[in-house]
Order: sequence, then structure tokens, then C-alpha cells
Amino acid sequence: MPQCFHTVKELREYLKPLKAQGKTVGLVPTMGALHQGHATLISNSAKENDITVVSVFVNPTQFGPTEDFDAYPRTLEADLEVVGKAGGDVVFAPSPAEMYPSSDDTWVEVTGNITKVLCGKSRPIHFRGVTTVVSKLFNIVGPTRAYFGQKDAQQVEVLRRMVKDMFFDLELRIVPIVREESGLARSSRNTYLSAEEKSAAVILSKTLKIALEKFKAGTTKVEDIISFTRTEIAKEPLANIEYVECYGLPGLYELSDEVKAPSLLAVAVRFGTTRLIDNIILE
Ligand code: AMP
Repeated sequence: MPQCFHTVKELREYLKPLKAQGKTVGLVPTMGALHQGHATLISNSAKENDITVVSVFVNPTQFGPTEDFDAYPRTLEADLEVVGKAGGDVVFAPSPAEMYPSSDDTWVEVTGNITKVLCGKSRPIHFRGVTTVVSKLFNIVGPTRAYFGQKDAQQVEVLRRMVKDMFFDLELRIVPIVREESGLARSSRNTYLSAEEKSAAVILSKTLKIALEKFKAGTTKVEDIISFTRTEIAKEPLANIEYVECYGLPGLYELSDEVKAPSLLAVAVRFGTTRLIDNIILE
């Protein structure tokens, strides 16, 4: 079983002598309810670093007032087991008061279109919460490498920008989307889905895959790719589309008429009350 620390002081005391010996540290930030997607990030880190720290923190500042902060699954005991099996050494599970010690807030915010498009439209404070908490974790742990999933593609682009602009001295390592056998992207929020919604949600990965094939076969107009994806997903009666959008990589730049490889095709779709995201890189 990995060691579990709840305070910044304890974690720093643990890491200090190891770093003095020149050991490399991998950081895997998570909100817990760990699944095979998280386990893949952890085992990648364990392969590439001497020590792997997994943070488990449901970060209040990245949830909007009507979002699922209270309902978000909290399963620390089971998470410790997943971390241990995947080769992680330490779990850092702080309280909100430990991570936000002052009554007034200090924010790290990436501004501009990169945080306004896609999920930024319906979740206006989300990325400010993410960049703030990830900055705190980077400063607490001082990792050699930090691991994030392509599942949250916009988060990856925002964090790349933050690391560059804030001169964080670490390497970002991005792990491809881990999927269930059906193709459904693994997510802690999949536990909210009924059996019927879960099988309906397969339409997302299925459609994105066909969109990529179409792109490769010569459908390169942004409008055509988006309308195909939207139409296919809308055929599923339980799917309620929030967005289907396509932006250029890196940095989520606005595409004019044509999709330029590499570009990100991303969707957010509700099944019942559960909001799922998925994406594919067109290249
Ligand atoms: P979360 O606990 O949802 O905040 O996710 C923590 C990290 O795991 C983030 O970097 C996610 O992008 C990553 N992650 C979550 N689900 C998956 C998945 N299915 N495949 C790859 N990475 C994932």
C-alpha cells in the first residue's frame, strides 16, 4: 500500500531527502474515484520516475455552483489500492482548507480563447480552478514530470500554456485516452450513468472514430466534419449535445475553412444528467 499524506508539510518532509539524493519525482494529479485511465497515468509515471506521487483532491474551485462537487464520488480506500497496484508510492489527499489556506483567493489564470471555447463556454470558472490547483501541486511537489490524460484535451492545452508562461521547470507527459471495450472513454462520472445511458454513450467514440476516417479519406472542410459528427450523435435519442467543435493544435486556434492536421475534434454531450466529454485528434 502507498503512504498517504494529508498535509503539505508531511509530503514535503517525505520528499526532501529523496530529492536531495537526486531521485526523480512523477506527479499524477487526480480527483480520485480512480479507474483504469488513472492507473495508466500512474504506471507510466512509475516507469519513468523513481517516485510517483498521486494527488487525490476534489478541487472545489473548478466546479460551478450548479455542478456535481458534492455528489462527486470520494473513494479514498479503494483509490489507495489502485495506486499501489499501478506502482505509485505516495498519495497526497489534502482537505480543501489545506489547499486553500487563506480566506481571500490567489488565482493562476490562463486567459484568452483557449479557456473560453469548448468546455470554457458552459464552465466559465473551471480552467481557472484547474490552473490554480495544478500550480499549487507543482509548487508543493516540485515534480520532474507531471502526467495528464488526453481525455481532457482542452485541459492539456491550457496546462501546456501555463507551464510555458509561468516557467514551471518540469516536463508534461500526456497519456492517450483509455477506453472501455465498448469504446466509451473511462471517466469517474461514468458511475452516474444508467445501463441504458451507458450503452447509448458509445455513440461518442464510435462517431469520432468515423469522423477521423472521413477526414483521412478527404473530408477536410470544418463544416462537413462538424455537421457529420453532430448528425450522427443526434441520432441517439438519449444524447443531448452541448457542443461539437473543432480547433487547431497546438493552442486551440480558430480554423478557417479547412481542418489542418493536427486539429482537435471535441464533443460534450449529456446523457440524462451526466455530462460526458470525448475527443479525437484529426491528423
Ligand atoms: P480526474 O480525476 O478526472 O481529474 O482525472 C485525472 C487525470 O486523469 C486527468 O489528467 C485526466 O485527463 C486523466 N484521465 C481521466 N480519465 C482518463 C482516461 N479515460 N484516459 C486517460 N486519462 C484519463
